Amino acid sequence: AEHNPGQPEYLQAVAEVMESLWPFITEHPRYAEHGLLDRLIEPERIIIFRVAWVNDHGEVNVNRGYRIQHSSSIGPYKGGTRFHPSVNLSILKFLAFEQTFKNALTTLPMGGGKGGSNFDPKGRSPGEIMRFCQAYMTELFRHIGSDTDVPAGDIGVGGREVGFMAGMMKKLSNRADCVFTGKGLSFGGSLIRPEATGYGTVYFAEEMLKQSGRSLDGLRVSVSGSGNVAQYAVEKAMALGAKVITVSDSSGTVVDEEGFTPEKLSELMACKNLRYDRISSYAECAKAKFIPGVRPWHVPVDVALPCATQNELNEEDAAALIKNGVICVAEGANMPSTAEAVKHFEHNKVLFAPGKASNAGGVATSGLEMSQNAMRLSWPREEVDARLLEIMQAIHRSCLKYGQRKDGSISYVDGANVAGFVKVADAMIGQGVV
Ligand code: NDP
Repeated sequence: AEHNPGQPEYLQAVAEVMESLWPFITEHPRYAEHGLLDRLIEPERIIIFRVAWVNDHGEVNVNRGYRIQHSSSIGPYKGGTRFHPSVNLSILKFLAFEQTFKNALTTLPMGGGKGGSNFDPKGRSPGEIMRFCQAYMTELFRHIGSDTDVPAGDIGVGGREVGFMAGMMKKLSNRADCVFTGKGLSFGGSLIRPEATGYGTVYFAEEMLKQSGRSLDGLRVSVSGSGNVAQYAVEKAMALGAKVITVSDSSGTVVDEEGFTPEKLSELMACKNLRYDRISSYAECAKAKFIPGVRPWHVPVDVALPCATQNELNEEDAAALIKNGVICVAEGANMPSTAEAVKHFEHNKVLFAPGKASNAGGVATSGLEMSQNAMRLSWPREEVDARLLEIMQAIHRSCLKYGQRKDGSISYVDGANVAGFVKVADAMIGQGVV
């Protein structure tokens, strides 16, 4: 803690991982040699920079830009870009740390990184968004590259913003390498990338349920958030026969007891992705109930998919879900459940998947985008989707392999942490002290 003052999210993420790893490391002490753990929790490089840009009124605005290059042990740094006023060093360091293990779990050769800015895109005009993205790239471009560091989107950064950043990157470098994933289809994007995180989360939940002889078909599901991950989690959950009751944003929750339909989802997507509007406006169109200022976790469901942001599901929310009979929780967002909430789920034998396992489908498909770009090919939708499903099943198997508790049940938290760690640690040991 004294090395990382004022970084609660980073300390939270490291503590959670270390707690899971401890029994494994005690049994395999070679993983604690050569300062391996000390090296693993120190990012390889952190870049912090000024982003100055001019708004529509001709005024100069200054934001702070970041890129955390956490680990390149198994491949180029890879991880998203977040634009949100809450962005700070602690949040991006926690995300880059988690990303390192997640990327190891995908079976693809990618290191871990994360970046972003405290820029708030809400209420900004398309011209302001473009100028901000371009200003952000005028510094970041010198630190990234297709074999060095490959960013993607995250909260506040979707296909539009990735396009602006990739365009500026090409202009500054005079090269068309794959330096961003999540690009538009017409300039190197992969089919299924927009869907991948949400679909992958639901594929993972289905694997967990299958393991205990059940399936999503007919179950009640709550989703939080209404952005990229949430939208495609809703779509895939519906496709597998579940009834999706909720979506939300930072202003409140929509509760729709009749369940989502494909028509309602199209309306939600138009509201969020075309009009950049609030969820309350969707609720009006869909004639669904909107409850301001609350999160979805007090609505009785069988399966909960938190897909908004970190620490959005606390101990009390977990207790409410458990009391109402939840059987499975799969994180679409990064660290949406607090440490206490996770303990509650695990203690009560709820099937609980941490984000680094269940939301890895997004970065896995980014890895597939990098492969397609390198080969100058683009695979059909079915092929990418089939590979995504295979990868999610492989991650599930890794969790089973490393997450067996003494009583025979599975801790997906321990499984994901140990499996990701073993791959990164073996690569670090193989490459010596660097
Ligand atoms: P979007 O920006 O598309 O959507 C974010 C959603 O979360 C919005 O509904 C937003 O509501 C809500 N939200 C954001 N911050 C808060 C907050 N402080 N309190 C309550 N709600 C909030 O982002 P994504 O869907 O891409 O990302 C969602 C989560 O998934 C993040 O944790 C991200 O790191 C994770 N993730 C994303 C991947 C991807 O491929 N996109 C891959 C793996 C993980 P509002 O509009 O009101 O802010």
